[in-house]
Amino acid sequence: MPDALAVQGLSMSFSGLKAVDDLSFRVAQGSVCGLIGPNGAGKSTILNCLTRITTPDAGHVEALGFDLLAEPIHRLPERGVMRTFQNLELFTDLSAVDNVAMGCAARLRAGWTAELLGLPASRRATRAAYATADAALAELGLSEIRDRRVADLPFGTQKQVELARALVAEPRLLMMDEPAAGMNHTESTELGRVIRRLGAEHGITILLVEHDMGLVMSACDRIIVVVQGRLIAEGTPQEIRANHKVIEAYLGE
Ligand code: ADP
Ligand code: MG
Repeated sequence: MPDALAVQGLSMSFSGLKAVDDLSFRVAQGSVCGLIGPNGAGKSTILNCLTRITTPDAGHVEALGFDLLAEPIHRLPERGVMRTFQNLELFTDLSAVDNVAMGCAARLRAGWTAELLGLPASRRATRAAYATADAALAELGLSEIRDRRVADLPFGTQKQVELARALVAEPRLLMMDEPAAGMNHTESTELGRVIRRLGAEHGITILLVEHDMGLVMSACDRIIVVVQGRLIAEGTPQEIRANHKVIEAYLGE
C-alpha cells in the first residue's frame, strides 16, 4: 500500500514553546492511524498544521500524492482532505440535515454557488445534497434526529453530525480530533465500527486523535504516540499497549 500521508520533520513553536518538534510519520492508504498523547502533547497543533489552519515553522507533508503545505487551504476538501474538530464547527441554529447537506458543497461547488445566487438550475444539486445527507445520517444511525436543531442535541450526537458532514464530502484522507469526546460507551463503540468500515470498505485513510483508549485500540491499525511534540513510539495497538515508554509517559498516568 502506498502512503496517503507522509510527514517529514514537522515543527511548530508558539513563542518559544515547541508544540511540535521535528515530527515524522507515515500513514498507509486505507488504514486507520491513531495519534495519542497526554493533554498538551501537540496533537491538535499537528492536525492544524496538516489541515493548513496553522503554518508550521518547518517540515514537508505529502498527502494523497500532492504537496500539502503548498496547497491553498480552500482546495483541501476538493483534494479529498477533510477534518473534524475537537470543539465542533457546526451551524448550531440549523438542523442536523442542513449541516450535513452543507458538507456536499465541496463536491457540488458550482451547484451550491448557483443556489446562493438563487438560480433555479441548482435545485437538482440541492436535492442531491439532501439525499446524500440523508444517506450519511442513516449510515451513522442518525435518521431520527434529522430535523433537530443541532444546538438541542447532546454533544456526542453533535460530534456524529460533524462526522456525517465530513463524510458527504467524500474525503480520501480524514483527520478526526477527539471524535468520541462526549459520547457514551455504546456511541463510541459504534463510532469505532464506523471508523473501521470507512477504512476497510471505502478506502478512506484516517488519522484519529482520541483519548478513549478502547476506541483507539479497537479501531486503529497503527498508533503513534506523541509527548511534548515528539514521537516517542509507534506500532500496532498490541505493541503500543506493551511499550514501557508509552506506559510511563501516558497510559500509566
Ligand atoms: P493537544 O491537542 O495534544 O492537547 P495542543 O496541540 O492543543 O495539544 O497544544 C500543544 C501545546 O501548544 C500546548 O502547550 C498548548 O498550550 C500550546 N498551544 C497550542 N495552541 C497554541 C496557540 N494558538 N498559542 C499558544 N500556544 C498554543
Ligand atoms: Mg487537542
